[in-house]
Amino acid sequence: MTGRRDELADNLAVVQERIAAACRGCGRDPAEVTTVVVTKTWPESDVRLLADLGVRNVGENRDQEASVKAADLADLDLVWHFVGQLQRNKAASVVSYADVVHSVDRVSLVAALDRAAQREDRYLDALVQVSLHGDPGRGGADPGDVLAVARAVAASERLRLAGLMAVAPLGEDPAAAFARLAPLRQQVLTEFPDATWLSAGMSGDLEEAIAAGATHVRVGSAVLGRRPDVR
Ligand SMILES: *Cc1c(COP(=O)(O)O)cnc(C)c1O
Repeated sequence: MTGRRDELADNLAVVQERIAAACRGCGRDPAEVTTVVVTKTWPESDVRLLADLGVRNVGENRDQEASVKAADLADLDLVWHFVGQLQRNKAASVVSYADVVHSVDRVSLVAALDRAAQREDRYLDALVQVSLHGDPGRGGADPGDVLAVARAVAASERLRLAGLMAVAPLGEDPAAAFARLAPLRQQVLTEFPDATWLSAGMSGDLEEAIAAGATHVRVGSAVLGRRPDVR
């Protein structure tokens, strides 16, 4: 286990250095960038090691896996981020453990999350996921629908509109894709000045995301290694 701890510590240091270098490159303060370590497919023992190494923000993309991990690891002081595509019938489960939901992409989902949060007596941070790939099957609101979803979140009782989230499409220069977020973000900020978060960037494109203003990067494989089973 010492081996794994050292490996995670080394990888975290590399990621922090990449973030610092990216911030230097665009004149930003690294303190503005929160690293969410995406632990999907990795065992609870890894999450414990990460927590011991000072990681506070962890991300998961499947409710089935995340709900078990969050319950088993409830003794740790962690902020749980749900980053995966979300069906309405999973809203109640996700709300029971997630502190932040990154993948709010339609008004019907806002209503389901809000009702669930009322029942659980919880408050959540919510990000509106923007589709940058134009493929409705892969999650994210069309850019033209983002403001309507953001307004629904802002009007809900239990969801705080924290900002926007996006995943760069495969096969496109991530910098070009992330650049499309700026006008949308500006539009949302004009109406909702507290919605300052931008969750963008993963292991392969966190530099481009930071240059495009990301406040949260979601990093999996650069910290934990290649996922054992890719779904
Ligand atoms: C898995 C996942 C990540 C992390 O991806 P890596 O390439 O392993 O860093 C980030 N965001 C979402 C939505 C994911 O599903």
